[in-house]
Amino acid sequence: MGLRIGCHLSSSKGFLAMAQTAESIGANTFQFFTRNPRGGAAKEWQQEDVDAMLAFFREKDIGKPLAHAPYTLNACAKDSRVREFALETFADDLKRLQMIPDVMYNFHPGSHVGQGAETGVGLIADTLDQVLREEQTTTVLLETMAGKGSEIGRSFEELRSIIDRVDLSHKLGVCLDTCHVWDGGYDIVDHLDEVLIEFDRVIGLDRLCAIHLNDSMNVRGSHKDRHQKIGQGNIGLKAFEHIINHPSLRNFPFYLETPNELDGYQEEIHLLKELYRV
Ligand code: FE
Ligand code: FE
Ligand code: ZN
Repeated sequence: MGLRIGCHLSSSKGFLAMAQTAESIGANTFQFFTRNPRGGAAKEWQQEDVDAMLAFFREKDIGKPLAHAPYTLNACAKDSRVREFALETFADDLKRLQMIPDVMYNFHPGSHVGQGAETGVGLIADTLDQVLREEQTTTVLLETMAGKGSEIGRSFEELRSIIDRVDLSHKLGVCLDTCHVWDGGYDIVDHLDEVLIEFDRVIGLDRLCAIHLNDSMNVRGSHKDRHQKIGQGNIGLKAFEHIINHPSLRNFPFYLETPNELDGYQEEIHLLKELYRV
């Protein structure tokens, strides 16, 4: 199988439109926000639109998309109303995602805002315990974070401690964001093998489900989280060639979240396909 790659797309025109847009730029998967990334009520999803997308997938060999939770979802906020919003949003998204069988739902674990990582991890696990259901077909992904401010998920250990505390932990996976782990301090440029061994030791590579492919504007360990176009940041093109071809990573879906419009994404997808060894 070839490289499974896509980018983040706007969901404003619906599911079939996203799948068609993905195909038009050479992508064979895509990511979308379940609702406005900065919060608020979600638009209704139409089952006919979802079905049309699924039919298009079968026809065109496009992989299931990755759903992304809004950034405002903070399961470990200090303010209980913010946590309540996170709980409601999470539960509602998981309910609606049942319209798309076997999809993945990625979320940022959250920011503990001064309560400490230990408390944050506990609150995130509590939220997951309240929303996960045995019958759901959606896999919920914890994203590796840069550690900006009080973000949880800056280390593999923090993600592991969340997973360890959740009852239905077999519903959980991890999405590795290259910009975030780099900004978090992991040297995926000169020591990719070691980082993946570490990931396997701490979390387990069997938990890895998806990769966000982003270059970084910042130096390693900066804890900043500012994405750059592929090959134009401090990670660099050579490292991305290694990442997409690495035996432990090459069969996962890769999603670009680089600062691009569609034409820029199209170029990056083309470039990465050229670098993928078949
Ligand atoms: Fe994200
Ligand atoms: Fe990301
Ligand atoms: Zn980011």
